[in-house]
Amino acid sequence: MGEPTGFLKWDRQTPKRRRIPVRVQDWKEVYEPFAIDELTRQAGRCMDCGIPFCNNGCPLGNLIPDWNDLVYRGNWQDAVERLHATNNFPEFTGRLCPAPCESACVLGINSDAVTIKQVEVEIIDRAWREGWVTPQVPSQKTGKRVVVIGSGPAGLAAAQQLTRVGHDVLVLERADRIGGLLRYGIPEFKMEKSNIERRVKQMTVEGTIFRTNATVGENVDIDVLLASHDAVVLACGATNWRDLNVQGRELNGIHQAMEYLPPANKVQQGDIAETNISAAGKHVVIIGGGDTGADCLGTAIRQGAASITQLEILPQPPVARAENNPWPQWSFVFRTSSAHEEGGERLYAVSTEKFVGDESGNVCGMIISDVKSENGTFVSIDGTQRELQADLVLLALGFVGPEKSSWLENLGVKFDERGNVARNDEYMSSVRGVFVAGDMGRGQSLIVWAIAEGRAAASGVDKYLMGETDLPAPVVSSAKSLN
Ligand SMILES: Cc1cc2nc3c(=O)[nH]c(=O)nc-3n(C[C@H](O)[C@H](O)[C@H](O)COP(=O)(O)OP(=O)(O)OC[C@H]3O[C@@H](n4cnc5c(N)ncnc54)[C@H](O)[C@@H]3O)c2cc1C
Ligand code: SF4
Repeated sequence: MGEPTGFLKWDRQTPKRRRIPVRVQDWKEVYEPFAIDELTRQAGRCMDCGIPFCNNGCPLGNLIPDWNDLVYRGNWQDAVERLHATNNFPEFTGRLCPAPCESACVLGINSDAVTIKQVEVEIIDRAWREGWVTPQVPSQKTGKRVVVIGSGPAGLAAAQQLTRVGHDVLVLERADRIGGLLRYGIPEFKMEKSNIERRVKQMTVEGTIFRTNATVGENVDIDVLLASHDAVVLACGATNWRDLNVQGRELNGIHQAMEYLPPANKVQQGDIAETNISAAGKHVVIIGGGDTGADCLGTAIRQGAASITQLEILPQPPVARAENNPWPQWSFVFRTSSAHEEGGERLYAVSTEKFVGDESGNVCGMIISDVKSENGTFVSIDGTQRELQADLVLLALGFVGPEKSSWLENLGVKFDERGNVARNDEYMSSVRGVFVAGDMGRGQSLIVWAIAEGRAAASGVDKYLMGETDLPAPVVSSAKSLN
């Protein structure tokens, strides 16, 4: 431990966000640089616990006390090695993870947790700046061919691990660019896409081959892939969105979040001049109070919406942990993302009864009501019905699992009771040689889980191909759904 009394001397500090009027004029990341002296002190708050709960709280098993100590001592090069030992893409998690490690930090019992995520992102950003992140080209090739379908964080992590142990790895992606939801779901202001480009560059030099505009089941035949590869990794995500089938759903101007966010991202990348769904000048209602809803909010603000309301069916969470939500569990508390800080109103414990349209068939409003929970379901409270003005409605209601495309059905993989692709302890599906990783096997989740699953599936593939493996497999709970 760098500083035994650090946690007594220094309070938790996090980086400041750029001024709101300035940052909403651009799409760049919202955080200001964090002073290095302050970061060192923050790393010095770590108590180097005998049993580091942060390490258990992290799905990747990140070696958090080790790199906190190394940063405190100024040994950044060793810190990045420890970071990469468990995480292929710390620049993604360091920016985007909700940080279950911080919820589990022992300091959080009676104080503020260590700023683990900030230490993580500072280590990897510095490593990139200093040129310490270099391609790791395998010294020997195995002659085995693996195809990874899907280039989100799960597919990328699996591909990098498998390439580095000498397999020939091909990544197929149906979109026009690599990255999955990192690319087309998450807006630039949360993570600038140059972070994906430099990893793809690194992976390409290492030997991974990428093909975009390659949709399995359309212009790529799964039978041809099976015949020409020794193993297949399915990493197609859980992109089957939940809908809201109430009266008026067919009106113009009601869109899924994942119909709205991708074109907005394409504009920022310079791929298209303008989006086909813009919030400019509109009264926007976002249905769904989660991360996806917050991404729609920040995007709508930058597009110049006239007003924005975000609806959530659950009650507003408490400001501090409730008694039935003790440490080290994930803390269900009221959080204010950067987008929430920028504008919009949040309404809790409300439900949509119907959409209202004008004579041209465009949505112009919606009827909502307050709800209460009764016998495990939400019921409308009489007398609370009211109308909201709405000429753009965005549905951010989550995802119900992977798309059940005919190629997947024909492949013959089994699904679990939640509709995800079932797999055994080694991430193999019911079809021999076909593995599954990320949201496609787990259901809608987090980037950190996708990376953990990609690493674990790579370990399963390597063992299947070679009879044994040295690839580490993070312990990913509830992986097994196939007996
Ligand atoms: C708007 C939004 C914001 C989010 N924000 C966060 C956040 O801030 N932090 C966080 O931790 N998590 C966040 N998440 C969740 C996180 O992005 C996902 O859990 C994660 O990306 C899952 O990774 P994956 O690799 O399993 O799948 P995905 O990222 O979904 O990637 C799957 C890829 O497979 C491709 N594909 C699908 N079918 C085919 C096919 N037939 N042929 C070829 N390619 C195919 C898709 O085009 C896609 O690129 C967010 C999710 C959304 C929707
Ligand atoms: S739980 Fe918190 S204080 Fe303890 S080792 Fe992990 S980061 Fe440090």
